Amino acid sequence: MNTLRTIADLRRIVAEYRSSGQTVGLVTTMGALHAGHMALVGAAKAQHDRVVTTIFVNPTQFGDPSDLENYPRTEASDLAMFEAAGVDAVLIPEPTEIYPEGDETIVETTRLAGAFHGAVRPGHFRGVATVVAKLFNIVQPDAAYFGEKDYQQLAVIRRMVRDLHMPLDIVGVPTVREADGLAMSSRNARLTPEDRAAAIVLRKALQAAQEAATAGADIAALETSIRTVVATEPRATLRGLDIVDPETFDAASGPLDRTIGVMLSVEFGGILLLDQAEIGPEGHSS
Ligand code: AMP
Repeated sequence: MNTLRTIADLRRIVAEYRSSGQTVGLVTTMGALHAGHMALVGAAKAQHDRVVTTIFVNPTQFGDPSDLENYPRTEASDLAMFEAAGVDAVLIPEPTEIYPEGDETIVETTRLAGAFHGAVRPGHFRGVATVVAKLFNIVQPDAAYFGEKDYQQLAVIRRMVRDLHMPLDIVGVPTVREADGLAMSSRNARLTPEDRAAAIVLRKALQAAQEAATAGADIAALETSIRTVVATEPRATLRGLDIVDPETFDAASGPLDRTIGVMLSVEFGGILLLDQAEIGPEGHSS
């Protein structure tokens, strides 16, 4: 595996792949890797000759400086995991490499960035779209792989790629979970043991919504069932609950006569956890 620190070095390696006609899949991460990230690598490896990854804790997507400072950084074990998974090249740039002196260009999906999770994290999705656009331009992959766990992030990236005519495919990968159903996240390690145990309430709430859907509930009743379950956990504070049309990302309401996307964010002692499900009239979920 090649570990590169500069854009020029990464481009040289990718040019070698391209000169022999090989295809390239990209997985972007902020490090602190777990099995969820590895599922993205596995999906990329199954479809491409070469897999390129990035580890970059992107400062522009953090609102709270202490959240950025406390974000886990585990480079040595990250590199070992990528190597074991058969990654070909990993870019680990400094912030000044990605945001050169005088950098002033941003990418923003104007409506989506401010809606739903974006409303509680101002500037977050602008930071995500901007850094992902830069990484796409640096690597120029055939396809890039993103987790469905970060449901709105995936929608923002699909919209950006469509609107800016970026020449690559975006592939969504189902959420990888712990044995008890908690979605894997680099933030889980920061939970106290009590909060970790309580955090299964996200999955329980989404399961209750699926059961309500199977029993014929409408979207308002689905929302109530989620709020009721989260309220049973005293350690949990509901931060976001949004139900959307998966294609348009407009807020969904009324009868449950089509598949809808549910995005849930719940805080435990200052740590924000996200989960998501797609639910149809039959209660099907991803
Ligand atoms: P992050 O390092 O948190 O920025 O995540 C990098 C990529 O991994 C994003 O596309 C995430 O959506 C994806 N990801 C994070 N957690 C999971 C998970 N539990 N299952 C699948 N993909 C995930």
